[in-house]
Amino acid sequence: MTNELYLDGNATTAVLPAALRAAVQAMEDCYGNPSSSHATGLKAKALMDGVRARARDVLGAGDGRLMFNSGATEGIQTAVLSALCAIRARRDAGEATGTLLVYGATEHKAVPESLAHWNRLLGLNLVLQPLPVDGDGRHNLQALRALAPEAAFVCTMAANNETGVVSDLDGIADALSASPALWMVDCVQALGKLPLRLAATRIDYAPFSGHKLYAPKGIGMLYVRAGAPFTPLMMGGGQEGAQRSGTENMAGIAALGAVLAALGDDTTFRTHAELTAMRDQVADALRAALPGIVFNAPLDQALPTTINFSVPGLASKELLDVFDAAGIRVSAGSACSAAKAAPSYVLDAMGLPAWRSSSAVRLSFGPAVDAATIAAACARIARCGGALRRSGMLAEAGQDAPPLDGPTRLTAAGANTWLVCDAASRTCVVIDPQPALDARVGMMLRSHGYRLLAQLSTRDVSGTVPMLGERSLRRVTVAADKACYVLDGAPAHAFTGQAGATELAALLPPETLLCPGFEEQSACCTSLRVALAGQDASAMAGVHLDGPALAALLRDHPDALLVDVREAYEHAACAAGMAAINVPLSRLAGWLPGWLARPEASRVPLIFFCRSGNRSTRAAECLRRHGYRHAFHLAGGVALAALPLAA
Ligand code: PLP
Repeated sequence: MTNELYLDGNATTAVLPAALRAAVQAMEDCYGNPSSSHATGLKAKALMDGVRARARDVLGAGDGRLMFNSGATEGIQTAVLSALCAIRARRDAGEATGTLLVYGATEHKAVPESLAHWNRLLGLNLVLQPLPVDGDGRHNLQALRALAPEAAFVCTMAANNETGVVSDLDGIADALSASPALWMVDCVQALGKLPLRLAATRIDYAPFSGHKLYAPKGIGMLYVRAGAPFTPLMMGGGQEGAQRSGTENMAGIAALGAVLAALGDDTTFRTHAELTAMRDQVADALRAALPGIVFNAPLDQALPTTINFSVPGLASKELLDVFDAAGIRVSAGSACSAAKAAPSYVLDAMGLPAWRSSSAVRLSFGPAVDAATIAAACARIARCGGALRRSGMLAEAGQDAPPLDGPTRLTAAGANTWLVCDAASRTCVVIDPQPALDARVGMMLRSHGYRLLAQLSTRDVSGTVPMLGERSLRRVTVAADKACYVLDGAPAHAFTGQAGATELAALLPPETLLCPGFEEQSACCTSLRVALAGQDASAMAGVHLDGPALAALLRDHPDALLVDVREAYEHAACAAGMAAINVPLSRLAGWLPGWLARPEASRVPLIFFCRSGNRSTRAAECLRRHGYRHAFHLAGGVALAALPLAA
């Protein structure tokens, strides 16, 4: 996607054009097996030897081993296996080895998981001991000094992948000076960003990964200090001097070679000072756009390519969504754990408050970034700030927030809170409020200038229910401790809490739109009639559109309406010129009556879309369930298909 600003360099990087060319050339001209003794093989071997020599030079590897492998996770396995086999051999020989496997509390998961795995497989029963870090994310050297005499193996990282915090490797070496422990330093995030002279240190193992520095995925390196114990992870044909069997990934090695060459050309990569100035420019743009922003690690102790931040009142997902809509790719922590949407264990280990760890965003760029990308990123960050402000998502209220009318669903931990607004009187009620959403609701009401009339609970069966401007809101008792609230309309909306459709059948007209008290994956809002009748699978035929099907539909139906079901701040953060209306999924319940009231003959096709196709599926299926046959959605969302959204 051409409009994309990729600022997730700590997860992976694009392939450098020179690396791409080198990989293709290796496949075309240098396709031999470097272990073959004929001329074609010798040519491949010469290429590989050249890259290894360059890598030795860049890393200051001295007379240590340097082998190519598939990436850092493999390098970490090999280092852990080597260290643990040596510890076992020493222990079997009656030597004192220490009992602790010490690892930094903020290490990439590949480290503690590998330690636990090989400790178990080798039956060593050593103790895994996290090494605490301080509030700035740096290893607690006093704690390390105390652990050092009992440490058998110590694993730390050169720079953290989530926060960019740079470790004090000299301090760690000093703390370990009297310890016999072996030492691994995960150098994945350091390559190309920090000077490395490995052989001048006491580091025993250092894994690297090509794809973090503009080489393709699937190529990495492992440095092993001369004299450090070594056990191969992979046995077979004896490649890499019998240290790592398996025919080498020549395209990957060639690409990595091009990257390593570029490190010395003074034109491809920015200097530390240039990167620092760029990082400061982005940090200033973030401060201006996002009031209250806090940086989760001191910028002056982190790589100049990484910024980790949180914004009060905004979850990581909301920030990621608004950035994504603006075409900026950032992440909520490490890419490996992004799918789990859990708070960051790295920030937790630093002792940061829970809200910061669960709302953190990582913005990172590679050292080949250019000034135009940084300037464009700053402009789009400003646009994101404006979009959030106008949608009432920031502490600093927007002046021009579009009015809210009807029901809006807010969700926390699977439970729904409904904000029911009347635009004419600028009043609202909140149904089933949740403490986790109080700040959000307060902010929305302040920024829209609405007055809160009451907070109502579907567990209360008594108490006054106010009028909402000219509209009536009434309570219907369902059971001794269960009520629902009905907002007049054609059809009416019922906010049903925990009450099910069968309980409501005798109490409400069948066309009533049920707004549930918990998040349902399939239904946003369902009429009582449809809820009682159950799902009709045949109603969903043809609901998913791919790119060509969308183009065909728009050709046949120029009157079709494109409906962006992303939140208002995401819609507003997109580049100007969207020929689509915005109906956030959270407000679909309020739009349903209008669409459903249209007679069949005057129904235009509705094409829902969102970022990935999730929310739009729910919207289109909701319409279909209610008999709106011309509802569709864009499968895969705008992430996969381009929309004809010209102004
Ligand atoms: N170590 C660190 C610090 C990382 O950031 C990563 C990747 O995210 C890894 C290890 C794993 O690297 P690879 O993807 O090459 O297996």
